[in-house]
Amino acid sequence: PHGHPGPHARDAVFSVPPYVGGESTLKGVNRVIKLSSNEGAFGPPPGAVEAIRAAACSAHRYPDGGSAALREAIGVRFGLDPARIVCGNGSDELITLLIQSYGGSGTELVMSAHGFLIYEIAAKLAGMTVRKATERDLVTDIDAMLAQVTPATRLVFLANPNNPTGTLVPHAEIARLRAGLPEDVLLVLDAAYAEYVERPDYDAGALLVDAGGNVVMTRTFSKMFGLGGARLGWAYAPAPVIDVLNRTRMPFNVSSLAAAAGIASLGEPGWIERCRDHNNRARAALTARLRACGITVHPSETNFILADLGSTTRAAAADAHLRTRGILVRNVAAYALPQCLRITIGTDEECDAVAEALAGFVRDHG
Ligand code: PMP
Repeated sequence: PHGHPGPHARDAVFSVPPYVGGESTLKGVNRVIKLSSNEGAFGPPPGAVEAIRAAACSAHRYPDGGSAALREAIGVRFGLDPARIVCGNGSDELITLLIQSYGGSGTELVMSAHGFLIYEIAAKLAGMTVRKATERDLVTDIDAMLAQVTPATRLVFLANPNNPTGTLVPHAEIARLRAGLPEDVLLVLDAAYAEYVERPDYDAGALLVDAGGNVVMTRTFSKMFGLGGARLGWAYAPAPVIDVLNRTRMPFNVSSLAAAAGIASLGEPGWIERCRDHNNRARAALTARLRACGITVHPSETNFILADLGSTTRAAAADAHLRTRGILVRNVAAYALPQCLRITIGTDEECDAVAEALAGFVRDHG
């Protein structure tokens, strides 16, 4: 046994670093202000907490593997056919399953230069080559995306709005992207932040899913619905893609507690309106305060903003300054934006705290 190298994982496993989420603790700080993971500002809806409590009494029972009641509730809420919905352990699970099922060794995935990191990680783990399209002012450039498509392309991923840039691509441009793709390429529209978008011409993806056979929309309960810790996402897709996801997902991928919480959160009276109102107001106020300090803030359609500190060292210094004040934001160096910090829109108190701390940073450091 000695000296034997032991079992080998596939090489692709070592082609990516482990994903590290936004931090939630700071040494020596009791009450951290956590603005690092784009979680909902108001926590879980009260009805969802109550539903988890009630569901806990039946936690010895396996959940309905097909999440029928949850799919029904999603269908009613968003006006979609429940048979064309699959629920997952966060939308991350569904994204990963799509990549494993439609991609694979020797094939390619196209994404935007500052697109969501999980696409790249899942693709590389599946042995795929990732092609990144350049952006224009941190907005996905459809022509650049199309230019990255080759005969080996199997999947194109676009988060709309995108994390970590916060920017949105108009519906007509997304339709143009779809029209420019070969029929055998799957276009995945990741609408994790859809609930926050106010633009009247916005479509999260359902229209394009209905228009053709090669588009999937993914959604999550982790943002406005306040259930990041429960792990709950869903996909709306053509029937053959639904079939593929149902074959590849774990049999009981959505827990009974998560499903109950999801159903309750969809039914929470006034929740979406309250969250949207707060987000709009607080995002505008925080953006204005940071800009007044001379910090560049990109326009956002989401529950976070991207603050450009001008250089990697200044961003790192600002991050350190915030940490000493118990505030955690997201360093987005892993997204090739080392000069930026991504700040989640929290409660008014949390937004005040980060605005004051950054104003202090600019006063002290210039
Ligand atoms: N897509 C995007 C663009 C995201 O920002 C996130 C959350 N960081 C996800 C997908 C994954 O969300 P979840 O797995 O919690 O549903």
